[in-house]
Amino acid sequence: MTTSDVSSEMSTPVQTCDVCIVGAGITGMNALFVASRYLNRDQKVILIDRRSRVGGMWVDTYDYVRLHQPHCFFTAGNIAWTLGQDRSHLATKGEVLDHFQHCLEVIKQRVQVDELFGWAMESHTESDGIVRITCRSADGRSQVVETKRLIHASGAAVMPNDPLDISSERVRSVSPDSCDMRGPEMAASDTPVWVIGGGKTAMDTAHAVITRYPGREVNLVAGSGTYFLTRDLAFPNGSRRWWDGRVLSTLAADTARRFDGTNEAAVADWYRAKYGTWVTPETGNYLFGVLSEAESSTIATALNSVVMDHLVDAADRDGTTELVFRSGSTTPISPGSWIVNCTGYFNGGDQPYEPYVSDSGAVLSLNLSSITMHLPSYTGYFMTHLLFLGALRDIPLYELDWLELRSKSNAVLPYTLLALVQHNLSLITDSVPTKVLLDCGLDFDRWFPPPRRLPATARFLLTHRRDREHHRRTLDTVRERFGARCGPLDHTANTTSQRSPTASTTA
Ligand SMILES: Cc1cc2nc3c(=O)[nH]c(=O)nc-3n(C[C@H](O)[C@H](O)[C@H](O)COP(=O)(O)OP(=O)(O)OC[C@H]3O[C@@H](n4cnc5c(N)ncnc54)[C@H](O)[C@@H]3O)c2cc1C
Repeated sequence: MTTSDVSSEMSTPVQTCDVCIVGAGITGMNALFVASRYLNRDQKVILIDRRSRVGGMWVDTYDYVRLHQPHCFFTAGNIAWTLGQDRSHLATKGEVLDHFQHCLEVIKQRVQVDELFGWAMESHTESDGIVRITCRSADGRSQVVETKRLIHASGAAVMPNDPLDISSERVRSVSPDSCDMRGPEMAASDTPVWVIGGGKTAMDTAHAVITRYPGREVNLVAGSGTYFLTRDLAFPNGSRRWWDGRVLSTLAADTARRFDGTNEAAVADWYRAKYGTWVTPETGNYLFGVLSEAESSTIATALNSVVMDHLVDAADRDGTTELVFRSGSTTPISPGSWIVNCTGYFNGGDQPYEPYVSDSGAVLSLNLSSITMHLPSYTGYFMTHLLFLGALRDIPLYELDWLELRSKSNAVLPYTLLALVQHNLSLITDSVPTKVLLDCGLDFDRWFPPPRRLPATARFLLTHRRDREHHRRTLDTVRERFGARCGPLDHTANTTSQRSPTASTTA
């Protein structure tokens, strides 16, 4: 260490707290909600985020994004929304951000929360029961936080999307985050729109353009295609809640039971046919996105063309402009066309692998390289309960490297995630007080009235231990097939490199 290093370390302000949470998205806010249940008013949480406010990706994602599930389920713990809208309302970006702020204010009534917004955690080290976190602000100042427990809730780590880098000078390359589809530039033009991508953002974008500018030419380049869970079946409206649709916990349990680690194509065929909706002729992907039959049909009816391929470039050649695809095929497009990049939001940021819990048990890491549940909100909620109950190192949860598995097989990912959450939820159910389950406002089953919900709960309680062994074998099979990190942590090893999950004999 040089003399200047020593003097800069001595001048760095140090704050202390009982719990530090890094990441103020839905993952971090659920962690904060749970932490506030275990701490008292004299104790302090420091909440750090490199963004300027609470909300995670919702702070700077595109303006026309909407929740795809009924708003009440997108919350911290069981904090109720104050919107006064019908339960089925799909909240806008502004409404979601207001709710995040409301959650923070509600939680602050139980525990002290100091916000360090606009600060990024650069590193953390553990020694003598203290976690030391080094942070830096956007203008280069540094700060140290010392804490007994760190929850590193970088979660999905979604960042705004850039436009695609294409060579043509005759087209407009934008992303939903760089150009509002409902904004003046798009409104002033009537040239064709090419939506690149087939997932939720592509559907949001196609729907926004189609409904805002009726008659405008809209095309979709959908890669291998995506299907969605039909909202009408997952969240039927009005009196239909009493008899129609499917209670989601039983759908998840049935799907995970069908999946054995090798039969993802058959499971996808069954799931899609019974519960799916889609606008493309092929659907290689599913990532728990939700779409209504009405949205699906609006988009499918209005699309001018659907290309099942991956865009490589838009190139100017011999006086014409054409889209160039991965397969080598090309298609001519009109000058002035809009190319809207709706691909690739989930890349996990640049965070290196961290096991979900550190050797000492003081650092809980909730990120895409070591996930334990299928949804960020659930992860923040349940894993933080295990942290405070001191149970994180005692139960053989499986962790999965979402990014690694996705890079090897999109097709296997969703059903593996369902096996993972069923396996881990079974272990968690046996390890937490019943109140933890009762207080979980994130539970989609609450959409349905008690006579439909209670049989689903009873069925889970009766079958989850028996099913656990099947899910464990499924997850082991996926690991062996794809070589992706998927298994329990080895708590006897004491270095990060040794902590890769290994084949398990415990269940
Ligand atoms: C376009 C789009 C639409 C979506 N719509 C829905 C939807 O309708 N419903 C749904 O359930 N899910 C939706 N999702 C999934 C979505 O990503 C999650 O629901 C959720 O909002 C992600 O929350 P998160 O906390 O896991 O991650 P993020 O929202 O990415 O939050 C993580 C936070 O951690 C901070 N952070 C990370 N590392 C550091 C560090 N080192 N220092 C300081 N801060 C750090 C980041 O700045 C960020 O604010 C959507 C995703 C996308 C991309």
